[in-house]
Amino acid sequence: MKKMQGRSQEQILAVENELGAHNYAPLDVILSRGAGVWVWDIDGRKYMDCLSAYSAINQGHCHPRIHAALVAQSQRLALTSRAFHNDQLAGFYEDVCALTGAHKVLPMNSGAEAVESALKVVRKWGYEVKGIPADQAEIIVCENNFHGRTITIVGFSTDPNARDHFGPFTPGFKTVPFGNTHALEQAITPNTAGFLVEPIQGEAGVIIPPNGYLKQVREICNRNQIVLILDEIQTGLGRTGKLLAEEHEHIVADMTLIGKALSGGMYPVSAVLSSRETLGVLQPGQHGSTFGGNPVACAVARMALKVLIEEGMIENAERMGKRFMAGLETVHNPLIREIRGRGLMMAVEFHPEAGNVKTVCNALKQRGILVKETHEFILRFAPPLIITESEVDWALDRIIPVLSSHG
Ligand SMILES: *Cc1c(COP(=O)(O)O)cnc(C)c1O
Repeated sequence: MKKMQGRSQEQILAVENELGAHNYAPLDVILSRGAGVWVWDIDGRKYMDCLSAYSAINQGHCHPRIHAALVAQSQRLALTSRAFHNDQLAGFYEDVCALTGAHKVLPMNSGAEAVESALKVVRKWGYEVKGIPADQAEIIVCENNFHGRTITIVGFSTDPNARDHFGPFTPGFKTVPFGNTHALEQAITPNTAGFLVEPIQGEAGVIIPPNGYLKQVREICNRNQIVLILDEIQTGLGRTGKLLAEEHEHIVADMTLIGKALSGGMYPVSAVLSSRETLGVLQPGQHGSTFGGNPVACAVARMALKVLIEEGMIENAERMGKRFMAGLETVHNPLIREIRGRGLMMAVEFHPEAGNVKTVCNALKQRGILVKETHEFILRFAPPLIITESEVDWALDRIIPVLSSHG
């Protein structure tokens, strides 16, 4: 086995380029260590992580208590499959339900799996509870959604790059504009089983719907007996300054999908939460996952939730988000179209004349800030929720001049 140690960045990138599938275009930085909001590259340069692994690292890199839970559980029992019970799963269910008010939980691993699981369950609910004729169930989704990368999910993406040449796709999906309740009502038929939506569209560029949208969506779903599925895989677990983004509009979804920060980035853990008995339609043999609900996942997730609450990360996200946003709003550059955010989920959108903002990412990297563009003209800022006032100020001291001088 050849060692990576001692190789230069160029040599490592050449290996990745030759041997890896080219399904990502990462910044040219190779990270080898992380702690809290900070990461270090192989040459020892230190950066603030303002992406947080797409919000999987809400609790900060290598959180010591989550790490301890991972080590302790992996020394005792790592995997049983669901053919047998394990002594961690019930506690995970209890903690998740106590925290979110959910009545039932389905444990999975990746976010995409949670989405797929919800789609299956909603269809089954549509046939068995709502009485939709066999194979006629429809699920409504939004334009510019991001729900993952499986064939079914990319089949209802509106991003050509995500879906082109991956067909034929799963039928049964209808697309409406995000933030538009009139279009949603128009799309509903007696066969509509569910509406799947992100409370704030993350990958689309932190797109915040009009005030009252989710509340109206909730009413429309109630009126038409439609299961409201909120994909909170990115917005959930404190990112927007609330445990779940649905709380901003005082609603409760019928199904809520969480993932990413459910493990604090330590392990792939996702879950489908249902507040009604939607998940009750599943019977033995109808769905599953070898690793879903495994003891390590449960122990890690329980600790990841515990530290989120006990260490005040959600309130901190709210406070630091305000501070960060106030700083971003001092930037004056005519090439900037909009600066928006909620909690520590923020974005700066440039006009197309600004060119691809990858150049801004590289300029920020030079100054010790790691971010990634989304859709060419949008920069997202989403540091770990443990960020302190002085760390926010440190970041702004570097970000403001770069954004102001771009163009
Ligand atoms: C990241 C993400 C997913 C997919 O999660 P994976 O773990 O990458 O499969 C789904 N929905 C939203 C809103 C996401 O941000």
